[in-house]
Amino acid sequence: MIGTNSNMQSIVEKSPIQKIEDDFLVIRGIQLYIKRDDLIHPEIQGNKWRKLKYNLQEAQEKQFKTLLTFGGAYSNHIYATAAAAEFFKFKSIGIIRGEESETLSSTLQFAISKGMELHYMNRETYRHKDEHATIKKLQEQFGEFYLVPEGGTNNLALKGVAEIIDEIDMDYDYICTACGTGGTLAGLVAGLSGNKKAIGFSSLKGEDMLTPAVNKLVHDFSGQTFTNFNINFNYHFGGYAKVKPELIDFIKEFKNEYGIQLEPVYTGKMFYGLFDLIKKDYFPTCAKIIAVHTGGLQGLKGFSNYFSESDLGESV
Ligand SMILES: *Cc1c(COP(=O)(O)O)cnc(C)c1O
Repeated sequence: MIGTNSNMQSIVEKSPIQKIEDDFLVIRGIQLYIKRDDLIHPEIQGNKWRKLKYNLQEAQEKQFKTLLTFGGAYSNHIYATAAAAEFFKFKSIGIIRGEESETLSSTLQFAISKGMELHYMNRETYRHKDEHATIKKLQEQFGEFYLVPEGGTNNLALKGVAEIIDEIDMDYDYICTACGTGGTLAGLVAGLSGNKKAIGFSSLKGEDMLTPAVNKLVHDFSGQTFTNFNINFNYHFGGYAKVKPELIDFIKEFKNEYGIQLEPVYTGKMFYGLFDLIKKDYFPTCAKIIAVHTGGLQGLKGFSNYFSESDLGESV
């Protein structure tokens, strides 16, 4: 797509699928595979790349020079957008929630290193960032830009995520993903088009809002409503970016056992939940499960007190 940048590591077209071998799976006849979207690119990876892909293409086709997007100081989306903007030769502007702090997060330092121009927006205005008046003000301030929504979720994002389904050329019964806004789950549900079953593991509290949000996203994208998905809210570990010792231990064990790095905000919680459900015999015997590794490994740096240098070093 959209040209590549020869000076940089290229973006993997189709992420690999890796089988996980373990006794607790064998005794239940369960087959577990991981769709390794963390391997798409060291910086532009996971679901954030899937969501950006067609937005970048649209911005190129419409000849925008600048991308503008929103996020918090540790946002995987800000990180990926900054890297992708440099890669595809856009100027980029990041509108960061809250006040500028004295020490910049590693995420924001990285964004600046990729040429992203950062501006801070107070939390009150930020709540209204999607409103016409706010966007008009930003246009007056910065000129023309292609707007990528916070977290990257829109129709073009769903189109990109749905390609995960197209890439899987094996038989399976379930596909699992971590959930924040639900955009990624919505893309998978749209891609499945009523077949098989998708399970989302919520990284945050907020049970009543997420299922309708996914339904709306899927409907806006496809004009259809599907019921072959559910969202599990039992593994958020206290809420967004909250951790507990057993989650940190799980992430370390996972790396030791299978050689795959997870992080505590999204993928760690999903795999913790998925393993727990398998061990509680939630899935029928012989089920074939695919879990999407949605990337986000830069987020580990925000938890550097829990992890060793080697875990952090490999991720970025
Ligand atoms: C942003 C993110 C998610 C959540 O994606 P949504 O589409 O907002 O549900 C999941 N995993 C990782 C690694 C992420 O960075």
